[in-house]
Amino acid sequence: MNKPLDLQIQVALFQWLGERSAKNGGVFTWKELTTEFVFGGKVITLIGQTGIWFPKGWAMPVSITTSFKGPYPDRFDKGILTYSYRGKDPNHRDNKGMREAYKTKTPLVYFEASSKGKYAAVWPVYIVADNPSALSVTATVVSAPAIAYETIEATESPLAREYSKREVEYRIHQPIFRDRVLTAYKSQCTLCGLRHEELLDAAHILPDKDPDGQPEVSNGLSLCKIHHVSYDQKIIGITSDYQIKVREDILEEIDGPMLKYGIQALEGKRLILPKRIEDHPDKAKLERRFEDFKKKAV
Ligand SMILES: [Zn+2]
Repeated sequence: MNKPLDLQIQVALFQWLGERSAKNGGVFTWKELTTEFVFGGKVITLIGQTGIWFPKGWAMPVSITTSFKGPYPDRFDKGILTYSYRGKDPNHRDNKGMREAYKTKTPLVYFEASSKGKYAAVWPVYIVADNPSALSVTATVVSAPAIAYETIEATESPLAREYSKREVEYRIHQPIFRDRVLTAYKSQCTLCGLRHEELLDAAHILPDKDPDGQPEVSNGLSLCKIHHVSYDQKIIGITSDYQIKVREDILEEIDGPMLKYGIQALEGKRLILPKRIEDHPDKAKLERRFEDFKKKAV
């Protein structure tokens, strides 16, 4: 029984993942993935104790998962994922299932552990090569299967690589960064204390493109939407000793309650910090960013 080939399930699954992502920022809980996707009146589990996961009765996996815990926690290299076989036997059921997904061009979902019991998801992922001698498969992320799975050479094309790399950045790195920052700050804006998760972002202190702009909690701040933009637009600055500064011309402005209570009232207050010291914003990074704020402020 090749249930994964059932197009209706795939369509319903990808749609479900997309709808959930809009609410959960692309990071799913274990409970969500094991109890909440329902098709034809039945719960289909999307993740399990083994990295290559077959829902009950399926001949092919629905997902592959990594739980690698590192500073930059994925195994994608320029959009290409190398995923190890289970064990050393190429004919183990799990490895055969991945080979079958490769042969039949069946899309899978890839999960990457973000924080305890939470996973960033990316889909569709196609296996584009099977490497039994290296005990691994090679996979890529695409929205346009035609370029993805026709040949392994296609994944070598600069366009396909760039596309896949961006998909990974957007769909894995960002959600994981957001999840880790929001978890550290207990889902609260560090400036105003707002607790509405849907209204919170993980802001970078130093941007991605900066050599020191790593997606680590100490380079992040949990900010509500209005304070995120205010920080980026240099309306608000943060000193290296965690004090909030409002730009002088903004302090003098007269406007409605949003400006008065939402922005001006923050002048001189201190950040609401995470409990763990190692999660606190990096002082040297804040200082560099504050230098930039001061330039705009004069
Ligand atoms: Zn705020």
